[in-house]
Amino acid sequence: MYRKNAWLKYKDNKDVMNFAEGYKNFISVAKSERLAVKEAEKLLKANGFKNVDDVKSLKEGDRVYFINKKKNVAAFIIGKEPLENGLRILGAHIDSPRLDLKENPVYESKGFALGDTHYYGGIKKYQWTTIPLSLVGVICKKDGSIVEVNIGEDPKDPIVGITDLLIHLSADQMSKTLSKAIEGENLDITLGSMPLDEESKEPVKANVLKLLKEKYGIEEEDFVSAEIEIVPAGPSRDYGLDRSMIAGYGHDDRSCAYTSLMALLDTKKVQNTACCILVDKEEIGSVGATGAQSLFFENAIAKLAALSNSKNPLWSARVAMENSKMLSSDVSAGYDPLYGYVSDTKNVAYLGEGLVFNKYTGRGGKGGSNDAMPEYYAFVRKAMDDAKVNWQSAELGKVDQGGGGTIAYILGNYNMNVIDAGIPVLNMHAPMEIVSKVDVYEAYLGYKAFLKA
Ligand code: MN
Ligand code: MN
Repeated sequence: MYRKNAWLKYKDNKDVMNFAEGYKNFISVAKSERLAVKEAEKLLKANGFKNVDDVKSLKEGDRVYFINKKKNVAAFIIGKEPLENGLRILGAHIDSPRLDLKENPVYESKGFALGDTHYYGGIKKYQWTTIPLSLVGVICKKDGSIVEVNIGEDPKDPIVGITDLLIHLSADQMSKTLSKAIEGENLDITLGSMPLDEESKEPVKANVLKLLKEKYGIEEEDFVSAEIEIVPAGPSRDYGLDRSMIAGYGHDDRSCAYTSLMALLDTKKVQNTACCILVDKEEIGSVGATGAQSLFFENAIAKLAALSNSKNPLWSARVAMENSKMLSSDVSAGYDPLYGYVSDTKNVAYLGEGLVFNKYTGRGGKGGSNDAMPEYYAFVRKAMDDAKVNWQSAELGKVDQGGGGTIAYILGNYNMNVIDAGIPVLNMHAPMEIVSKVDVYEAYLGYKAFLKA
């Protein structure tokens, strides 16, 4: 079970480092699922993929994509084999833990205008205080227009943030547990401190609303139909003196989304139809119209069948899904030497050892896990070894230490063979997550090999 460090595979690191630059640019821009979809569409178009709405029929080699409600993408390369013989699917999620502005967010207290938030996904709340945050998202107005908001990403922009108590007055707070020391209801961002005038009842709030009206033409009530995400501000950076790693926001799961997408873009001819699907809402249970549980994906495959002259596209889609093979491309917990006690060291992912396969995730007695078929795992191992991809096998952590899930079981419910395969991450769900550049590259190579397997 010895695994060679993947860096040792390369005489020079040029390909690894170049690929990492592309990925760093992607996560520095794709701070929300909508922005990730926008970037993905740009890349798809540049690589010969057509929007399905502009396609009349499909044949071998055609490249086509679907976008669902601006937050969910499915892209395909049509294979030589009929669709019913199954697809090769790479599926990742493009939502990441963050804070969302509430429907009625803006209030004033003692000379400050503040923005009330509701956190999204599993976060350690204390990690989100005293760091630079930016606002990205959309405000949808009653007249049907959509205002795009992006404040804090341009270095010339102001940032926002969440305060924390000074250590000198933290006697009460420091005696609380980590989960209670910062309350979810207290994760409010500071928006301003300058009063508009002497007459207004809430002059600081009035001034902030005035600024927003000038910049975006919005009224306070427009926040009701908005989707403003508060995310760590600024670009991703090289991490470590040797520049071997990347520090950034949203590696879970945009590192697997980017590598899966690039694997598809860099593939030409395929035997089985190749697919990359990027979904929303994984961090809150894969629910809703844009999550992995949505009928969108099944409908998209039915549409492919219809465009390929199937007599019964819905049934063709079902048969195609049943015969498909999938990698659920999601990140894994990397071994952290500072917190080694949570891991079984022979069944944990190590940074630098390549693409990680998780036969199962779940919690307790594998609760909620897809638990891949060993026959299928053997097929995937062979595909990786034939392509000389560095890969490793792992669990999330020690038994009964915690747990987690991915989208694997949802596609598994279509009677599809699915296994989790992703990139090891440190600081998962923190504002600054860490991945190794060589793992990002091995994932890309592994995903590419899978599409051909
Ligand atoms: Mn994930
Ligand atoms: Mn996650």
